[in-house]
Amino acid sequence: MAKLYFRYGAMNSGKSTALLQAAYNYEERGQRVLLAKPEIDTKDAGRISSRLGVSREVDFLIRPNDDVRALFREHRHEGVACLLIDEAQFLTPVQVDDLLRIVVFEGVPALAYGIRTDFRTEAFPGSRRLMELAHSLEELKTICRCGRKALFNARLVEGRFVFDGDQVAIDQLTADSVTYESMCAECYLTESGGRLAV
Ligand SMILES: [Zn+2]
Repeated sequence: MAKLYFRYGAMNSGKSTALLQAAYNYEERGQRVLLAKPEIDTKDAGRISSRLGVSREVDFLIRPNDDVRALFREHRHEGVACLLIDEAQFLTPVQVDDLLRIVVFEGVPALAYGIRTDFRTEAFPGSRRLMELAHSLEELKTICRCGRKALFNARLVEGRFVFDGDQVAIDQLTADSVTYESMCAECYLTESGGRLAV
């Protein structure tokens, strides 16, 4: 039985690397995969790039109003064994519902990779829906500067921590000055002075 998988982690937890490795594993066995990602991620449009230097073009981009099941059917070719989605936090909840329908009705497993929460520690809508629907949840781990497991993604603007702002900053004019640091709860709360999103 096909399943919907959500593999989540903080930034820099190697999600794109894991996705490309999973694609490779399928292809090594002579199976084909489809790669997709939401179009909102403009820093590397149309490609899935690992920080280790490997990069591949996606088969299709998903815009906010797209019907993902229709896109899947349009791009599905003979023998597709798996649908792999990067930056899945940027899917809409409706599109995550589509993923489950693809899995159940088309019988093709879907592996979604994404960040669980934004820089204010709130779940991305797509990630929240994936947490609700996925058959399988798997955490990809990375460590904080202190050596503990990182849970959160603190935002820095020109090197200084900020705890207010839009959920998505990657396509703003200021993109170059915005960076993120994966942090454990202790370090995050130390930097935020105890603040959380709500
Ligand atoms: Zn820490």
